[in-house]
Amino acid sequence: MALPEVKPWIKTLEAYVPGREAAAGSSMAKLSANEAPFGPSEKALAAYAEAAAHLRPYPIHPVVALRETIAGVHGIEADQIICGAGSDEMLALVGQAFVGVGDEVIFCEPGFDMYRVVALSQGATPVPVPNRNYQADIDGILAAVTDRTRVVYLDNPNNPTGTYRTQSEVERLHAGLPEHVVLVLDGAYAESVTADDYEAGIALVRAHQNVVMTRTFSKMYAMAAMRLGWAYGSPLIIDAMNRLRMPFNVSVTAAAAGAAAVEDAEFLDRICTHNAVWRDRMTAALSALGLHVVPSQTNFLLIRFPDEAPFTAGEADAFLAENGILVRSYRKMPEHLRITIGTDQQNNSVLELLSLFMSGQRVNPA
Ligand SMILES: *Cc1c(COP(=O)(O)O)cnc(C)c1O
Repeated sequence: MALPEVKPWIKTLEAYVPGREAAAGSSMAKLSANEAPFGPSEKALAAYAEAAAHLRPYPIHPVVALRETIAGVHGIEADQIICGAGSDEMLALVGQAFVGVGDEVIFCEPGFDMYRVVALSQGATPVPVPNRNYQADIDGILAAVTDRTRVVYLDNPNNPTGTYRTQSEVERLHAGLPEHVVLVLDGAYAESVTADDYEAGIALVRAHQNVVMTRTFSKMYAMAAMRLGWAYGSPLIIDAMNRLRMPFNVSVTAAAAGAAAVEDAEFLDRICTHNAVWRDRMTAALSALGLHVVPSQTNFLLIRFPDEAPFTAGEADAFLAENGILVRSYRKMPEHLRITIGTDQQNNSVLELLSLFMSGQRVNPA
């Protein structure tokens, strides 16, 4: 008797290995996964607690209300919004709807890992396009398009580099794509952008059938544990995603907390201001130490360390960890570390530790 046969392309996937977590109860500062440091809005927490008293019915109205709230705050159409378990689910639904065996999926490298996973899980060929000077290479992406291309994923800003592409550059990318290609604008860090020539995707979605923008509550809203994200796309794309999505993919607590968070503009403003102030301050201070800090529009910094011991990224990673700070390292870019912007105290610790590190005096400050 034959055993169940796993589809051959599924075997090309590896189960996701999350970044190192702070051990339960430890005082390690987790600056490795880009959750904003202060936790969710108080109003979101109150809405969560209130919703938790209403767990019996399937969550239908709360999700409708969430979509209407998002639509109101962003000035977009509620029936072109779809919500799900993080923007990861949104990215996967686009793949399921538009990508099949033998197709091609384009994304930036380095870029968000999930695009490759979505491509492989559909039996498609991932087509990574190397960044140029840490930025998405618009011409490189356009040159990589073939008649097998089905989706282009653009994390704008990019994770892990933190760089962004301007509205006019994204428009140029879109204009150069064949109409049959779906352009996914992943705005996971849209809230943290301060550049005034950036646009997360609403204008392109409005104007074209082949564009969808994804957003998340995991990063600047600091609700990653909730698993809540959304997409705004053309009727064609949102209709396909709605047919595929499981009907009750957002819990009542997530819907209620998400709606309260989106309405709490004052909270988001406070987080974004803190982030922008520290982003400038840390970029300047770390650059002054002789480190290369990639210009960031996000809530993290990608830092390139020297090649020579004892100043390598690997050594810095270990030194920070010994001193209670977890950051993100990369197998494929071992000279770099990515550090999430944290609280005042955490950021000051990072600066103090890296200053010691670069001075060559690697003693514990405490
Ligand atoms: C974190 C992240 C996401 C997805 O996060 P969810 O928690 O699934 O919403 C998507 N894209 C990028 C670029 C990210 O950094």
